[in-house]
Amino acid sequence: MIPVVDGHNDALLRAWRTGVSLRDRDDEGHLDVPRMRDGGIAAGFFAIFAPAEDDEPADPRSRVRATDDGYEVPMEEPVPFERAARIADETASIAERDLFLVRSVADLKRCLAGEETGAILHFEGAEPIEPGLGNLEAWVERGLRSVGIVWSRPNAFGHGVPFRFPGTPDTGPGLTAAGRDLVGACNELGVMLDVAHLNQAGFDDVARLSSAPIVASHCGVHALCPIPRSLTDAQLDAIRASGGLVGVVFDSAMTRADADLRPDTPLDVVIGHIEYVAERIGVDHVALGSDFDGCTPPQALDDATKVPALLDALAARGWGDDDLRALCHRNWLRVLAVTWR
Ligand code: ZN
Repeated sequence: MIPVVDGHNDALLRAWRTGVSLRDRDDEGHLDVPRMRDGGIAAGFFAIFAPAEDDEPADPRSRVRATDDGYEVPMEEPVPFERAARIADETASIAERDLFLVRSVADLKRCLAGEETGAILHFEGAEPIEPGLGNLEAWVERGLRSVGIVWSRPNAFGHGVPFRFPGTPDTGPGLTAAGRDLVGACNELGVMLDVAHLNQAGFDDVARLSSAPIVASHCGVHALCPIPRSLTDAQLDAIRASGGLVGVVFDSAMTRADADLRPDTPLDVVIGHIEYVAERIGVDHVALGSDFDGCTPPQALDDATKVPALLDALAARGWGDDDLRALCHRNWLRVLAVTWR
């Protein structure tokens, strides 16, 4: 089994809400350490996310509102720093209790060798960081290795994309002054920046300001699923030019042409996004970014143990061992080796 580095999961949020240990196999949700081992996921980016509400929100389908030509889902309210900082602290404590924290490429290689099952700590939305960046270094010392400047709602650093269909990422202004400072600070501290959920103007700011390869950790492509969360061809080209990568998301609503949330979606829909990225910008710039525990994947891919089914399907379509290794982990190793310090 080729070991996988997965670009994004929300298992820590599930554990924060339910109190489960991620060391134990669970029937709920998509991902825990035993199921990562079964599915060959050697390490993954574990999101620390501060929701507006403590409780699990209603089924996303119940919040969808019809528009003239599609749908939209109302955006969460902005989350104040104090709430985000408290939840981030509580969530990081769960990670420290349950997971092996990957702090370096050497740690990641130990995971790929099968010695550990690893978690890379990621902020999905920089709300837990003080706008003056005063607590950023302490978070890096604690293990933070990746920052998504925004989740979709606006924050002190930038503006994210709405959840709607159809739509483009070209919505609203670029990074704030604090957001531009955050890019420089992350570059200096060797923290990866993630452009998933960021709008076009923010993406352009990151592309212009950051010295690191551009990473979109859990996204689809706009040509196949025309929603604001998807990457346009121009964004894909910018990612290639930077030496970065796209972690292709497994979500049905972010991969289907009709952006519908349907577990009966065929695996081939996700494969279409992987192959689109590989064909447009090269196999050296495509990776996996499941969004396990944060999305509704096809049934054939609806927990961490099922990742081998995706790789088998790619192999059956002619993906050779070398290309699969690039997809599964080699591209992450390359990007992180030049990003982390
Ligand atoms: Zn996300």
